[in-house]
Amino acid sequence: MSELIADFYRMRDMNLRRRLPIFAAVLMLVLAVGCTNNKATATANTPSPTPSPTPSPTRTAIWEKYDLTKPTSADVVSKAATDNFKSYTLTIRNTDQEIKVIAQTGVDPTLISWVKDGATYVARRFAYPKLMRPFVNFIAIDQTWLESSYLAEGYAADFAKKSAGNFCGGAPACGGSTTNLWNYSSIQQNNSMVTNKSGMAQTPGHEFFHAIQERLAAPNLAGPTGDKVPNWFWEGPATFVGQETAGVLDFTDYLTVGRPSMIKRYKNGAPINRTANLSEIKANDKIIDPYAIGFAATEFLVAQVGVEKMLNVYVALGQGKTFDLAFKQGTGIELADFYSMFEEVRATLGFAKD
Ligand SMILES: [Zn+2]
Repeated sequence: MSELIADFYRMRDMNLRRRLPIFAAVLMLVLAVGCTNNKATATANTPSPTPSPTPSPTRTAIWEKYDLTKPTSADVVSKAATDNFKSYTLTIRNTDQEIKVIAQTGVDPTLISWVKDGATYVARRFAYPKLMRPFVNFIAIDQTWLESSYLAEGYAADFAKKSAGNFCGGAPACGGSTTNLWNYSSIQQNNSMVTNKSGMAQTPGHEFFHAIQERLAAPNLAGPTGDKVPNWFWEGPATFVGQETAGVLDFTDYLTVGRPSMIKRYKNGAPINRTANLSEIKANDKIIDPYAIGFAATEFLVAQVGVEKMLNVYVALGQGKTFDLAFKQGTGIELADFYSMFEEVRATLGFAKD
């Protein structure tokens, strides 16, 4: 505006014939600016929406410290995590890792193909120390068949006896570093292929990921108490990998089936899981349930830093680092800061505290 006015005063010395057309042009410009100003005034007079509460400077600073964006919806996080999972698993890293499935007569063929395809997907694509033999998945109905099948596949007699005797402690599936097991008797009793389809569909990726965790992090494993490694970071990543694998292979859809099943598990679990902070979810003892909240935390972590950095935490654990130090080394984020960020967004992600 000030330049316009200056130009107008400079015109006073010009003769009238030259001045008129320029004067007209300037007048139109002034009118045009006036119209714009009117619009601006009209906008300014409309009531503005109630401002949302400003986050405290300290909390905002955590996100800025890592150049991360605080997510505003669960969809944004799910999409980023799924994109990162797909991009990581685009690369085949272990072409020759053989995956076998030995199933007892009477096992649902759908489960057999899920186990074969899900375990193979994770085994071929993730980075981990090479296995010296084929990885065998057993799907057993009874313990006698299981023990003799272990022996037939070359597993040691004491291992065969112990693992068959335990039979996953009654759980539908359990993982180890050289073999995984499905207790089909338990699956049948609970009609799990029907009543918990997404839970079953995620087991193949889930259990093979446990083998990867063990191979990378040993001897620093979670165990029942989670003293060395909290169970949210053991069962959470395994569940996340299981659900994403089930989604990629079209067993069950991640966004509409797998993820909602985790929110349901969270809401129906023992109340302590909804009143505790993530940092307190250490045990895995049927009261403290690290699966659902661990899934949410892993999805959030992978959305922010990707799969490789999540895996690097296990690598650092295998180098003998404590969980605090391993988390920082692997992800570049201080564990305490990650916990703060997660607590800030867990409600947005569908895992609100109560
Ligand atoms: Zn597990």
